[in-house]
Amino acid sequence: TSSVELTQQFLDRIKNEDSKYNSFITVTEEQALADAKAADQQRSAGNATPWTGIPFAHKDIFCTNGVRTTCGSRMLENFAPPYDATVTENFRKAGAVCLGKTNMDEFAMGSSNESSHFGPVTNPWGAGNDQKRVPGGSSGGSAAAVAAHLVPAATATDTGGSIRQPAALCGITGLKPTYGRVSRYGMIAFASSLDQGGTMARTAEDNALMLNVMAGFDPKDSTSIDREVPDYTATLNEPLKGLRIGLPREYFSDQLTPAMEAQIRAAIREYEKLGATVKDVSLPNANLAIAAYYVIAPAEASANLSRFDGVRYGYRCENPKDLMDLYTRTRAEGFGTEVKRRILVGTYALSHGYYDAYYLKAQKVRRLIQQDFANAFKDVDVLMSPVTPSPAFVQGEKTNDPVTMYLEDIFTIAVNLAGLPAMSVPAGFMDGLPVGLQIIGDHFAEARLLNAAHQFQ
Ligand code: GLN
Repeated sequence: TSSVELTQQFLDRIKNEDSKYNSFITVTEEQALADAKAADQQRSAGNATPWTGIPFAHKDIFCTNGVRTTCGSRMLENFAPPYDATVTENFRKAGAVCLGKTNMDEFAMGSSNESSHFGPVTNPWGAGNDQKRVPGGSSGGSAAAVAAHLVPAATATDTGGSIRQPAALCGITGLKPTYGRVSRYGMIAFASSLDQGGTMARTAEDNALMLNVMAGFDPKDSTSIDREVPDYTATLNEPLKGLRIGLPREYFSDQLTPAMEAQIRAAIREYEKLGATVKDVSLPNANLAIAAYYVIAPAEASANLSRFDGVRYGYRCENPKDLMDLYTRTRAEGFGTEVKRRILVGTYALSHGYYDAYYLKAQKVRRLIQQDFANAFKDVDVLMSPVTPSPAFVQGEKTNDPVTMYLEDIFTIAVNLAGLPAMSVPAGFMDGLPVGLQIIGDHFAEARLLNAAHQFQ
């Protein structure tokens, strides 16, 4: 098959199927077919990389030169960046064919993809039923598009669970790399000390191929880490004999439904059959992760989102009276409810007189959580747990209760606070809905995670 044919097939699928899921915000058909044609020429000239001519999609948080990049917000509804994110550029250089930009929660704030200005995304699982389910968030468009075979792979980002949770709810494989492994340059900032770009595809092998292109040092990102990038596909077939798995006691608690726990424990027994050993470990401060995150992430978001002022770029209100009116109405009209909630919480937490009580304390808790993981990794190679307390919930079920929504990330958020890599791997079904197994590694253990996921698949 030529890339032009392959690209056309996926574009047709998007055209015919995506009205059911709303997983794309923008489809770049013309550009994709032109890129596919160029890729076919590269291939016949003998200059192919593993990605030459392969279709994929970008979460609409990665800047794409000349192609609008909305971040799921009215604020950026008509924003076409004049440059590429480093991740975008890497895929372009590898010859991959971008089909478009996927839907997401506004500014990546959410766990259900219901906060997008471009409408909610529907999970392909159960999409034909009366009660439609959420795909998870914030990378729900990427997850739904991969799950529905609209695209073989998609980029995503994870600040508190936004790769792993939607991957789990849509029954696909997702990887959040170590903080600093993938450049954040041109990836619209939410909470800069937590944001990390990563991968979504059906298999661990495809995730490895994506990470091969995405990982690496970038002088344009001050927190990028200068460290060799292995070939992540090279170790996929290593045997797992002797792999030491830790089960964090705190993640097998009463938040977990018994059926979900049974599913996860069955997956772990499969690992024992592959020669792994299993022991209980403890992350004593895990119960503080959500509270610390919902101080730190909004604080950083309130600072990052101050740039959307109606002056520099993006949405601007009509007929401003004066500069103050321009700022306030632009932001009042351009941002949705969840984004405003985060800005208010973050501004409050950072304000004089509250800084020590909230932000500083949250940073101290963050350090304790990091130490918990460091202690656990003295005895084990990887940690395993559920990704979510239960499978995909019904649309609308949690939209009026932000705290219940925040609890969706109870098993994923500590990983971001500690900067660790982690995966979500499909681990069977519960009531006909997919369940995800979380595999957490020590810093830069991506190859080991991918190996463990590949052997399970
Ligand atoms: N659900 C979390 C939040 O709303 C995490 C989002 C993310 O990882 N981008 O903040």
